[in-house]
Amino acid sequence: MTIAIYPASFDPVTYGHVDIAERAAIIFDKLIVAVYDRPLKSLFFSPQERLEMTRQAMAHLPNVTIELYHGLTAEFARQCSAKVIVRGLRVLSDFEWELQLALTNRRLVPEIDTICLMASQQHSFLSSSVVKEVFANGGSVAEMVPPQVVAALSGKFKSLGAEASGRVNLVSLRD
Ligand code: ADP
Repeated sequence: MTIAIYPASFDPVTYGHVDIAERAAIIFDKLIVAVYDRPLKSLFFSPQERLEMTRQAMAHLPNVTIELYHGLTAEFARQCSAKVIVRGLRVLSDFEWELQLALTNRRLVPEIDTICLMASQQHSFLSSSVVKEVFANGGSVAEMVPPQVVAALSGKFKSLGAEASGRVNLVSLRD
């Protein structure tokens, strides 16, 4: 049985992430979607909120489980007995970062390899940052994220009030 993990921040989960998970779930026997609890970038949603939204977005995939993790991704993959780390590639600029990550993870845990799936064309310019930026400025994100994420964004913006826009990281080199 080949187990793979798909690690990401999912802040929030988008249809681009769901697409990668759906396709990886066909290739591997079991896929663990791993929600990184504290990445070194500013986050809008709490780890628990990101876990719950990702769980709901991927509930239709029977061989997929969603777990929160902290610490090294490669170490988490080893603990899960995973042989593969799945990532997504959208544009050329993703490649440099993914190459760096893949080589670092391989150095840390040589028996685990990284496989990158190409983003589907309709999701290739979709990122969590774009979703937050569009929503923060009053645009519709209905075609970018599942309905429960739209609801969570509304709830979060309401609960943060005037602070909300300041909490959204609108400047990001990649995500
Ligand atoms: P992280 O901060 O861990 O990179 P992200 O949620 O930003 O987490 O992205 C996780 C992975 O999913 C990355 O490999 C990224 O390239 C991929 N990804 C993000 N959005 C999309 C998308 N729209 N289509 C395909 N892959 C994507």
